[in-house]
Amino acid sequence: MRLARFRFGDRIATGVLEDDAVRILRGTFFEDPVPTGEEVPVGDVRLLAPVLPSKVVCVGRNYPDHAAEMGGEVPAEPLLFLKPSTSVTGPGDPIPLLPISERVDHEAELAVVLGRLTRRGAGPAEVERSILGFTCGNDVTLRDLQGRDGQWTRAKGFDGSCPLGPWIETDLGDDAEVLCRVNGEVRQRGRTSQLTFRPVALVAYITRFMSLLPGDVIMTGTPAGVGPLSAGDEVEVEVEGIGVLGNPVIEG
Ligand code: ZN
Repeated sequence: MRLARFRFGDRIATGVLEDDAVRILRGTFFEDPVPTGEEVPVGDVRLLAPVLPSKVVCVGRNYPDHAAEMGGEVPAEPLLFLKPSTSVTGPGDPIPLLPISERVDHEAELAVVLGRLTRRGAGPAEVERSILGFTCGNDVTLRDLQGRDGQWTRAKGFDGSCPLGPWIETDLGDDAEVLCRVNGEVRQRGRTSQLTFRPVALVAYITRFMSLLPGDVIMTGTPAGVGPLSAGDEVEVEVEGIGVLGNPVIEG
C-alpha cells in the first residue's frame, strides 16, 4: 500500500495512493486512519514529504562499498547522526547550492518511517511492528564542510538537505535496488541486501537510548558512487518497489 501526504487545492491531506486516484484518509497515518470516502484524481494533487518527522536519524558507512570509497570500513556499531526536522523537503522541492560550500553531494538512501512511539525496553516484536513503511531519501551533504567541521551538523543538517518521498510503501522486501540518477545518468547503484545494519536492527539499536516518535525517519546509509551536484541538475533517488524521488538543484 502506498501512503501519501499531499496538497489538494488549499488543503493538505493524507491518503492511500492508487493508480488513478487518492483515497483521502481522516487523521494521520499513525492513529488508525479511516477512509473518508472522498477520492481525488492523482493528477489534481501535489505530493509532499510523506511525513514531518521530529527528527531524522541517519547511519553513516552502512554499505561496505561506500565505506571503502570514503577510505574506511563499516564500523562495528552503527555510526549515527541527526538531520533536523527543518532539513526535510518533498518531491520536486529544490536542493539549494549554498554559498558556504563548494561541494554538494547526493546520497541515495532507503528511508524507514516509524509508525508508533518506540523506546527503551521495546521487545523484538514491538520493534518489528514499529515500522510503518519505507520511502526514498537523499542525504544531501556539503562534502567539503563535512571534513572541515569535524562533525556533520552543518554539512548534513541544512535546510533542504533531506528530500523524502514520493510516498510511503508499507510492503517492501529486504533486497531492493537503490539507485541515484543525475540528469538520467546512473551514479549510484546498490541493494538493500548489502546493508550491514538492517532496518529492524537499526530501530532496536537506536531505541536502546533514544525514543522514536510516529513519523520519525531512519536513513539507512548510501551505496558507493556519491558525487557532486551542479545548478540545473535533476537528481533522482529510486528504490525498487517504492518509486522515484526527483528534485531539481538550484543556486541557493
Ligand atoms: Zn548518508
